[in-house]
Amino acid sequence: MVYASVPAQFAPRFLYKKNLEQPRHPDGTAVVMPYGLRVTEAILLKHYPPEDVVVCYPEDLDRFVGPRTRAIGVSAHNPIGAAFSTGVYSNIFGSTARPINAYESERVFLHPAIRKYRPRVIVGGAGAWQIEKTNAFERLGVDCVVIGRGEAVIADLFQAADEGKPLPRVVRTPEPTLDQIVIPQKRSTFGIVEMTRGCGRQCAFCTPTLETRVSIPPEQLLEAVKANVREGGRVIFPVSEDIFIYGAAAPFYIPNADALVNFYSAVASVKGVDYLPLSHATIAPALVNPHLIKELSSILLRKSVLRNPASTHPDKTFVSPLIGIETGSPRLAALTMPGKALPFDVRDWQDIVVEGINILNENNWFPVCTFIVGLPDETEDDIKQSLDLLYRLRRNKVLYVPSIFTPLEETRMADGHALKPRELTKLQWEFILTAWRQSLDFAVVRKRSNLAWKLGMYAFYYARGRWLHGPQFKYPALRFAGVSEEKISKHLYLKWNGNNNVSDTPPRQPRLVAKHAGATIEELSRLQDGQPFNIYGTTRVTDSGAFPILQ
Ligand code: SF4
Repeated sequence: MVYASVPAQFAPRFLYKKNLEQPRHPDGTAVVMPYGLRVTEAILLKHYPPEDVVVCYPEDLDRFVGPRTRAIGVSAHNPIGAAFSTGVYSNIFGSTARPINAYESERVFLHPAIRKYRPRVIVGGAGAWQIEKTNAFERLGVDCVVIGRGEAVIADLFQAADEGKPLPRVVRTPEPTLDQIVIPQKRSTFGIVEMTRGCGRQCAFCTPTLETRVSIPPEQLLEAVKANVREGGRVIFPVSEDIFIYGAAAPFYIPNADALVNFYSAVASVKGVDYLPLSHATIAPALVNPHLIKELSSILLRKSVLRNPASTHPDKTFVSPLIGIETGSPRLAALTMPGKALPFDVRDWQDIVVEGINILNENNWFPVCTFIVGLPDETEDDIKQSLDLLYRLRRNKVLYVPSIFTPLEETRMADGHALKPRELTKLQWEFILTAWRQSLDFAVVRKRSNLAWKLGMYAFYYARGRWLHGPQFKYPALRFAGVSEEKISKHLYLKWNGNNNVSDTPPRQPRLVAKHAGATIEELSRLQDGQPFNIYGTTRVTDSGAFPILQ
């Protein structure tokens, strides 16, 4: 993510071009493709003969696009540069800085073969909404944007394009029914196989939670895994908004340990699967069932490519799920994401996070933790609590990814204000750069690289940062650059070398929500009945937005 967010103006294409290289079949078609395009391809192949459908890399467009080409489907992740990550990882260099992934998308849309033969261009993928939002249809030559899952509309849209009928500019897709869900049987980028859809924790800023929660049955997933391996894939990446909901019966926030362990061991034992990374997760399940974390570690650590000297595994491997912590303030958490803490009470959010990360670290799970700066209703006190949380976690093994709030369509926070880096306060910068500094010191273990990052920030601050971001950027940037805390901490809230008002006592056992009050952790972890496949309607949210209705 960080790599793709580097501003294109500072990264000439020849520097990274080699990294975009992917294997091709002898006929020039792509061996590896984003999962969404594989789904599109599988649907089109139900309606068209194989010689009429091609998936290829952008470099090969002139080989396949010609006068007979009727439609091109493009998968876009960040086509304009308006994704969450861009908010800070590109815009730190200035709000006009366009990240590499946006630059590369434009190269596809403006490709000479597409310009010459003018097939219809249909865009889908996680970033398709950006084209509508910025009204970039004409500039990029896009005919139709598909927002949402495409299964229910892809065949009709391509058929209309094929017959020369007009296409709607924007299609907001209905949620696919269960029998419309397609599991592609070809190799996908990073060996992605879709393990679950939806979430159910109902965070106010999140779109995946708007979908119905579905776990794909293990037999179907294993077919997709084998298809990837058959085509040379060594990595299988089962993706989920929260791996712990896989196969969960009501209540969904209590993990189904059997379903998870059986699934991961089945994938790990497929011959040819060398690497099996973890996808997104939530933190509360680690407290509900620490034994599950241990069992999963015994399967996953030997299939991990990640290494850090802090690991206690003999091979020094670790696994790294992406976990949304978002804030250290229980007040803000209760306003925006009370469901994330379930089955615990969100008022104990900090203790849930600290204890959860302790459990993960003990099992060599070093999570990537996201935080959101600038959530609507955020106060200075909320940011101070996020900084307090960083301090409480200072000895933990965590990689932090702070981002700036971006309002996403159809969420309860769709009307929220997206801060520009120039609008960030000194406290917000302090949080971002303290989190980065902690990540740097933990993850960049080679001394020379670590020093290069620090010197880079020092140079950036004096050459450009102070003009771009104003005086509020100064001391946070100097903390990242490694300037002595003695000199700078009097200008900052968090005293990194001590004297903070942060409770350093071990985390308290968090309270359970009323529904489970009085249960022991053992009783909770046994709530699941081990059903491997469940579908529920989307959980409704009360008008106050305060608490989801629990199943
Ligand atoms: S935990 Fe919250 S942010 Fe994560 S997928 Fe679920 S609803 Fe979205």
